[in-house]
Amino acid sequence: MHDPKYKHHAWDSTAYLVDTFGSRLLGSKSLELAIDYLRNLFEMEGFENVRKENVKLSKKWVRGKEHISLFSPRPEETSIPMVGLGKSVGGNVTSEVVMIENFEELEQKGKAGILKDKIVFLNPKWENYKKTVKYRKHGGARSSKWGALGCVIRSITPFSTPIPHTGGISEDEEEDKIYKSIPSAAISTQSADMLARIIKRGHKVVLNIYMEAHFIEGDFESNNLIAEIKGSKYPDEIILIGGHIDSWDVGPQTGAWDDAGGVFVCYEAMRLLINLGLKPLRTIRLVIWTGEEFGKAESKGAEAYLKTHENEMQNHVLAFESDFGVSDIYGFGFTGGSKGFNLVKSIVNILFKDQGFSLLTRNDGYSSDITPLFKSHKIPIMRSLNFDTPDLKTYFTYYHSGADNMNVLNPDEMDRNAAAIASLFYILADVPWKLPRD
Ligand SMILES: [Zn+2]
Repeated sequence: MHDPKYKHHAWDSTAYLVDTFGSRLLGSKSLELAIDYLRNLFEMEGFENVRKENVKLSKKWVRGKEHISLFSPRPEETSIPMVGLGKSVGGNVTSEVVMIENFEELEQKGKAGILKDKIVFLNPKWENYKKTVKYRKHGGARSSKWGALGCVIRSITPFSTPIPHTGGISEDEEEDKIYKSIPSAAISTQSADMLARIIKRGHKVVLNIYMEAHFIEGDFESNNLIAEIKGSKYPDEIILIGGHIDSWDVGPQTGAWDDAGGVFVCYEAMRLLINLGLKPLRTIRLVIWTGEEFGKAESKGAEAYLKTHENEMQNHVLAFESDFGVSDIYGFGFTGGSKGFNLVKSIVNILFKDQGFSLLTRNDGYSSDITPLFKSHKIPIMRSLNFDTPDLKTYFTYYHSGADNMNVLNPDEMDRNAAAIASLFYILADVPWKLPRD
């Protein structure tokens, strides 16, 4: 049965999923039940070729209990809000803290033997996500290299909130694999500022890090979810749109913003087109990826999609992902050849000129689940540009934390995202020519 409601339907649908299933860590029951729920929803709404595609996992990461306590200089043990970093090992270490502000200082102090048997506290200034995230990804391994027992990082976020932000540590670089992992966790920027003040006064800081985090080896699985509006004339040619359904697990609503909102603006775009009876020449394929959050080496859903659909890659015309928030949209980013860019730009300019936005920027289409499509097959990729692009300060204030919740999603803004996605990708699926890759 088709729900006739449109206004705020994307927000309401996101809220239902978030309230019912909660956060959706890769390997969890909640994630798979949420995927099954979406499959049924897509079928009920009349989406075509709805199917799950199996994604094999040889291990899964479990967080377990975790906490950080501050001893010295406090007269009594004080708990510090923390979250373990994804893929970290567990441990129970108590030691003096050495504050480090950048990797150059880490190397110097490491060579001088100052970090041995200590807890490294990485307190880098926020510049932007790209420049600062390396401390989360590689901080534990590089501290371990110099004999540190644990690593605590300042959350990778621009704004001070009382809530810490998690995220994956990396296995991408050789050093990440060589050096023994040590328990690695994030604390809030407020806690980081406090520790920095204490240390700068010359007082000794002693912390205890307790983390039960570990991997379980075994035959596990998750699923990508696919649904389509089949093309009337070129059913094999695919315009792909989507978002990722897995999330971090650090709050009761975590994953509303990153990325259930992205999933549901694409869902709503599909639903609008179906309920309006619009059937484009090409197929519009909705892909809901799993396993995005664990980073490149374990970006399982995107990797599995690429393998499963290897023989269709020549027919993928364009791919879009919404994974940078669903706040007010003012344009699209595009990565691909110049001919394709100019054609899409001319459509965007005409289509949205009266809506207060018409921007299409070049080399700005990257998004983690679609970047592999461009890198391996030069398929043009796109993402939406929201009001806080390019530095995404608002996005990074909420992501990967307990502050990620339905209240940061705006129903009207989600409607505008869905409408923009529906109109642009419908037209690109319905133009008589196929978008060139060069
Ligand atoms: Zn995301």
